[in-house]
Amino acid sequence: MIETSLDIAAIRKDFPILNREVNGQPLVYLDNAATSQTPQQVIDVIVDYYHNYNANIHRGVHRLSQEATDVYEEARKKIQKHFNIAKSHEVIFTSGTTHGINLVATGFTSFLKKGDEVLVSAMEHHSNIVPWQMLCERTGAQLKVIPMNLDGELVMEEYQSLLCENTKLVFCNHVSNALGTINPIKEIIDAAHEVGAAVLIDGAQAAAHIKPDLQALDVDFYTVSAHKMCGPTGVGMLYGKEEWLKKLPPYQGGGEMIAEVTFEKTTYADLPHKFEAGTPNICGGIAFGAALDYMNHLGFDAISQYEDELIQYATAQLLAIDGLKIYGTAKHKTSVISFNIEGIHPYDIGTILDKLGIAVRTGHHCAQPIMDFYKIPGTVRASFSFYNTKEEVDKLVEGVKRAKSMLQ
Ligand SMILES: *Cc1c(COP(=O)(O)O)cnc(C)c1O
Repeated sequence: MIETSLDIAAIRKDFPILNREVNGQPLVYLDNAATSQTPQQVIDVIVDYYHNYNANIHRGVHRLSQEATDVYEEARKKIQKHFNIAKSHEVIFTSGTTHGINLVATGFTSFLKKGDEVLVSAMEHHSNIVPWQMLCERTGAQLKVIPMNLDGELVMEEYQSLLCENTKLVFCNHVSNALGTINPIKEIIDAAHEVGAAVLIDGAQAAAHIKPDLQALDVDFYTVSAHKMCGPTGVGMLYGKEEWLKKLPPYQGGGEMIAEVTFEKTTYADLPHKFEAGTPNICGGIAFGAALDYMNHLGFDAISQYEDELIQYATAQLLAIDGLKIYGTAKHKTSVISFNIEGIHPYDIGTILDKLGIAVRTGHHCAQPIMDFYKIPGTVRASFSFYNTKEEVDKLVEGVKRAKSMLQ
């Protein structure tokens, strides 16, 4: 038994999908870093929306539209409160982390020029690399990489020495989806601000495990996806400091983002609507708010304490398997174990685990530069949530042992 104040058996009953079988075996879902499962409380909110008040927001005077607008704006306030954001119009609804990053990267086009530098960490998801490369191509700015060590920790001295007056932007994930490393983002942000650079933190992987205080962090931009934290796909939030959001140009043109349109000139709406062109994912935004309610009801301290114990147990059990190597052994890490067994392709292990009903991810996890760094094609990644159990870890370990004996 793992000590926890959470009633894991009761929590599991909230997630209908955890009752299903895969290949005749009870599902063991360990792909939470790719997407988390959705509790009944959030599913109910989605159903209620379509049963009772589905309407377009901000437009109609009719009752349904007003109700939908009110609940959607309430969700924005829940997000504001959860991340301790000063103003609700600093919360931009997006379709997810990728959208949020592209919005910022595109917006910076007119602010950068040749000779400027932007820094990216060596352990980013492709969605926090490619938009910046595209930005550098457009502007002539140079992309530089903050290196990491073999444990999967950023080399902070190297970061310090890369920072200079030409540095305009720094972007880094809060938690690595491939290694589980929790990066020292406060230190990263403060050092960047010393040279006048803005910082975007990709919180997609962190937000399911850590409740960040964005005002205390003094971060310029922070992005998350609802589907990694018990919400639906296709919705997320971008936080931006008001001063930045005022300076950045709109990302997309369309309905909802304008103040006045004539064929000669269009003026833009105030924040946050300036960045929310078109009909948003209304139901998704509302469900995102419900997902935050659900997780806050459990409590992030309890969640992270339980997940830490689970991952420590899993790490010890897996390391006892001969020839198994874990990638990502940072001192501060959360909820992700990436591993390989000597001489076996990760895909083959994943396939055998699937036959046993165990869902893991195999491959490069949208972070090819990390795999190149370790000179491996990919890893098997088991990623955990608060609804996983010690018994499920045991099944994973048994499954890996079985795969090893079949494949070696
Ligand atoms: C999942 C993930 C993303 C991408 O999120 P989307 O929801 O696909 O936009 C970006 N960065 C990290 C660290 C992630 O884990």
